[in-house]
Amino acid sequence: MKAETHIAVGALVGAAIVSQTSGSQLDTDDLIIFLLSVFGALLPDIDHEASMISRRAGPLALPFRLVSHRGVTHSLAAIALLYFGLTKLGAPQLIVIALLAGYASHIAADMLTVQGVELLWPVCWRVRLLPKLLCISTGGVGEHVYAVVTFLLLLVIGVPLVIR
Ligand SMILES: [Zn+2]
Repeated sequence: MKAETHIAVGALVGAAIVSQTSGSQLDTDDLIIFLLSVFGALLPDIDHEASMISRRAGPLALPFRLVSHRGVTHSLAAIALLYFGLTKLGAPQLIVIALLAGYASHIAADMLTVQGVELLWPVCWRVRLLPKLLCISTGGVGEHVYAVVTFLLLLVIGVPLVIR
């Protein structure tokens, strides 16, 4: 899926987390949690040289160009590695949750596409959530509908949840 779609999904995930964790007033921490979810939702595509995150990351993205697109970065192994890495670095639990929830939302969204993902990497089976006939083509009409529905959910459900 395109970066814009992943941003919409990550924003919805971020709004859901902030709605459950913020105090009576929104503050900077809430904004950071929200933005980390969006960032996490873009991160798996660092393995694609034309992706928004890869272009922005510059030389940091170079090692990820050695792996196949939708391979290791779109797997449960990547989620586990991020979890252990962030935890080992002493990242606060809420930051870990926000980043990983966004990251997982990316993988789940890509699993709605025809290409699927190598969820069980290093096993190279491509995993999809739907039968191939019902899957979305990246950049196709189905993705646009999915992105619009996600954005509407963000406006109708996500924003009211956060702004109480
Ligand atoms: Zn992806």
